[in-house]
Amino acid sequence: MRVTFLGTGSAMPTGERFQTGLLVQDEGRTLLVDCGSGILHRLQQSGVGYESISTVLLTHHHLDHVADLLPLMKARWLAGEEHLEVVGPQGTKSLVDGLLEVHEYMQDKLDLQVREVHPGDFSIAGFDVSAYETRHSLPCLAYRFDDRFTFSGDSEAFAGLANFAEGSAILLHDCSFPDDVDVSNHPTPETLGRELAGREIGRVYLTHLYPHTEGRHEEMLESIGAHYDGDVRFAEDLTTVSIE
Ligand SMILES: [Zn+2]
Ligand SMILES: [Zn+2]
Repeated sequence: MRVTFLGTGSAMPTGERFQTGLLVQDEGRTLLVDCGSGILHRLQQSGVGYESISTVLLTHHHLDHVADLLPLMKARWLAGEEHLEVVGPQGTKSLVDGLLEVHEYMQDKLDLQVREVHPGDFSIAGFDVSAYETRHSLPCLAYRFDDRFTFSGDSEAFAGLANFAEGSAILLHDCSFPDDVDVSNHPTPETLGRELAGREIGRVYLTHLYPHTEGRHEEMLESIGAHYDGDVRFAEDLTTVSIE
C-alpha cells in the first residue's frame, strides 16, 4: 500500500501546505480521501492526475476538506471521465446536491454516485475500511485501512480514537496547533502525546497544520515525546509512504 500526502495544511494557508487530501493506493486501486483547496493541483503534481480518481472518500464537510470537490468534477467532465463516486458521512448527499444547485450548469454532466457511510465497516474502491466517529465541530469520521493505515480526520485527541488507531503501521493524525494555542475540536501536541502513550503504532505523521506551527516543529515533537516514545514525524505535501 502507498499513501501520498497531497495536502497537509488547514483552513488558513501557509503558502506551502495545501488543504487536506491524501491518496491511498494498493494493487492498482486508487482512492482519494478528502479534497480541500489545492488538491486538484496536487493530484497533477503527484503524477496520478484527476483522471485516475473515480472515488472520493470524505471525512467531513468543512470547506478545507471538500473545497476542490466541484472543481474535480468539472475537470473530470472536461477530460471525458464522467464517472465519480463520492462517499462520506451523513449529509454527504445534501452537500453534493447543494453544490450542484449553486453551480447548476454542472448538473447531469457526470454519472455521479453518492453514498453515506456510518461508524463501522464498509467497502470502497476495493478497500475494506473501518470508520470511527471523531470529536470535532462537525460530524467527522476517522478511517482505518486494515492494520496498515489510519487517518484521524479532524479531531481532538481522545482514548477512543487512539484505541481505533492502535496496531496501525502508519497513523496520520490531526495536530493543528502548538501547545500555547487555546483550541477545541483539534488536538495539541500535549493532548495527542498523552492519548498515544503506550500505544503500539508503527509511525505517526502529524497533519492539518495551521500557520501557527511554522518554526515550532521541534518543540511540538518534544511535547508529544514527553508522553509517547514512538516514531513521530511531520507530514509534508507530496510525500509518499510505502506500507508493507
Ligand atoms: Zn474540520
Ligand atoms: Zn479541517
